[in-house]
Amino acid sequence: SKLLSSSMVTDGNTILAESLKKQGVEYVFGIVGIPVIELAMAFQSAGLKYIGMRNEQAAAYAAQAIGYLTGKPGVCLAVSGPGLLHCIGGMANAQVNCWPLLVIAGSCPEDHEGIGGFQEWPQVEASRPYCKYAGRPPSARLIPLHVERAVRLASAGRPGVSYLDMPGTLLTAEVDEDKVPELYHAEPVAPAYPNPALVEKAAEVLAKAERPLIIVGKGAAYAHAEDAVNKLVENTKIPVLPTPMGKGVVPDVSPYVVSTARTAALLKADAVLLLGARLNWMLHFGQPPRFAPDVKVIQVDINPEELHNSVKSEVAVHSDIKPFVELLSQKLAEKKVSLQPASNGWWQQLKKKQESNVAFVEAQANDKTVPLNYYAVFKTVQANIPKDSIIVSEGANTMDIGRGVLLNNKPRHRLDAGTFGTMGVGPGFAVAAAMWCRDYAPGKRVVCVEGDSAFGFSGMEIETMFRYKLPVIIVIVNNNGIYSGFDKDTMADIQSSGDVTQCTPPTSLSSEVRYEKMMEMFGETGHFCRTVEEIEAALKKAAAVTDRPSIINIAINPQSSRKPQDFNWLTESKL
Ligand code: ADP
Ligand code: MG
Repeated sequence: SKLLSSSMVTDGNTILAESLKKQGVEYVFGIVGIPVIELAMAFQSAGLKYIGMRNEQAAAYAAQAIGYLTGKPGVCLAVSGPGLLHCIGGMANAQVNCWPLLVIAGSCPEDHEGIGGFQEWPQVEASRPYCKYAGRPPSARLIPLHVERAVRLASAGRPGVSYLDMPGTLLTAEVDEDKVPELYHAEPVAPAYPNPALVEKAAEVLAKAERPLIIVGKGAAYAHAEDAVNKLVENTKIPVLPTPMGKGVVPDVSPYVVSTARTAALLKADAVLLLGARLNWMLHFGQPPRFAPDVKVIQVDINPEELHNSVKSEVAVHSDIKPFVELLSQKLAEKKVSLQPASNGWWQQLKKKQESNVAFVEAQANDKTVPLNYYAVFKTVQANIPKDSIIVSEGANTMDIGRGVLLNNKPRHRLDAGTFGTMGVGPGFAVAAAMWCRDYAPGKRVVCVEGDSAFGFSGMEIETMFRYKLPVIIVIVNNNGIYSGFDKDTMADIQSSGDVTQCTPPTSLSSEVRYEKMMEMFGETGHFCRTVEEIEAALKKAAAVTDRPSIINIAINPQSSRKPQDFNWLTESKL
C-alpha cells in the first residue's frame, strides 16, 4: 500500500482512510464541510464507499444499520461542532441497540483551541457517554492504532459505538511514511464458548418445564445464529417468540412462532430460554404482571454484565448464542425433549389464543371501508411487496400494528425504532439497507413503512435515495398526526374555535399532507391512495422501478387504532 512504500510523505487524511480500509470498514455515511472534505475524498481513493447524506443524524442511523447488517462497523463522518452534535442521537441509538458504529468528526484546529476557534466544542467529552471508546489520536502517526482500537471496541463483546476526534491540523499533518507504524488487522475474536456444566443445567431446566418458551432477540440475529436456532426449534418444537428485530431468525411463517399469542406465552411460560434479548421494558423486565412470578429464566448473552439484570436467572450463561444453541440442541436430543403440538397442553393453550387473535385481525383487515384502517392497509402491503424484502418501520401505531402483519422470514430483515424507541431512523436505515442489497443481495428490495409523523424527521433523505439510485419503496401510513390526528373538516373546526396556537392539538399534523409530491422535486410522480385497489396498483408500479425510490402516501382513517390490549405497557409500573 501507499503507506508502506519507502520514505514518502503522507498526511492524516490518507493515513485515516487507509487505516479504516485495513480494518475492513466498507461504508462511510456522512456530510462533508470544513475540515473533512479532503478526508471524504481520501476515503473514496482508498476504496471505501462514501454516501453523502442530508442530516448527520440520518447518517449515523445509516452507519449503524450497515453495522448490524454486516457485523462490521460502518463509519459516520461529520464536521466539527454542530456536525458531531447532530450525530449524538444516532450514537445513543446504536449504543442502546448494541450495534457497532464508528463516528469520525473533524474538529477545530489545535492551534485555535481554547481561544474561540471555529465550531470549537469539547467533542471527545461530549461523545463519551454514548460510546465504548472516545478518543483523539495525539499525532498523525498514531492514527492507525487508534483506528484499530476504535473498530475493535465497536465490534468486540457487546457491540457499540466508538468516536474518533480529528482536528483539522491532525488531518493535514504531514508525516514520513516510514514513521507510521505498520497497519495490522487482528482477526475477529473467536466466539465465546459456554461452560458445558451450564449447558447441561439449561437442558435440565427445559426438560423439566411444562410450558417452555424460547425468546429470540436481535442479539441472535446479530450473532447469525439462525441455523442453530432453527434446528433447536424444529427438534424440540418449543414455542418461539421473537422480539421485534428478532423476527425472521425463525421465519414468521414457522408453525412454532407464537407471536399471535405473545401476551399469553409470556404470562404462562414456566421456563424461558432468552437468546440475545434483554429483560428491559420491551420484555416487561421479565417480571409480573407480564411474566409468571416463578418463571425460570435461562439467559444467554455475550455480555456477562447483562446477566441477572432485572430478575435473577436460573441459569446465566456467558456465551455466544451460536455455540450455546448447538450444544444445547445435542443435550436436548439426548434427553429426547420434543413437544407434540397436536396433543401437548401448552401448545393447545397457545393455539387457542392464536386463533382468536388472528380472527380479530382478519376481521379488521377484511374491512375495506374507506378511509381504511391500519390492518386493511398492512394486509394489502404484505400481499403486494416483493418477497423477502427488508422491512424498515417506524411510527407509533404504524410500527406496532405493522409488526404483526408484515412478516419477516429471513433474519436481519427488520429495522425499526428499536430499544431506544427512536423516531426518525427509517430513511437512514433504508438507505443503508438498500446499499447492502445492492452489494450483497442484488434484486432484494427495501420497503420503508413510515407513519406520517415519523417520516417528517428525516424525509429529506429521499434526495439521498435519488442521488444514489436506491429503489426504496417508501410507504407512508398517513393519519394526520402523532399517534392519531383529525380529518380535514374536524381539524378546520378545531383550529377556528379560538386562538390557533392554543387550539391546535399537540398530537395533530396538517391533514392529508401530500408527501408523495416530494417525488415531483425530482421530476417523478408519487402515489396517493385511499383504497385497497389503489395501494395494490401503487405497490406493483413501485416494485417495477429499480433505479430510484418511490413514495406511496396512504390516507387512512385518522381515528384508526390498535386492537385492544390486555396490558398497557407503559403504565404498569409498580413503583
Ligand atoms: P431485543 O431488542 O431483540 O430484545 P436486545 O438489544 O435487548 O434485543 O438484546 C440483545 C442482546 O444480545 C444484548 O444483551 C447483547 O449483549 C446480546 N448479544 C449480541 N450479540 C450476541 C452474540 N453474538 N451472542 C450472544 N449474545 C449477543
Ligand atoms: Mg401518524
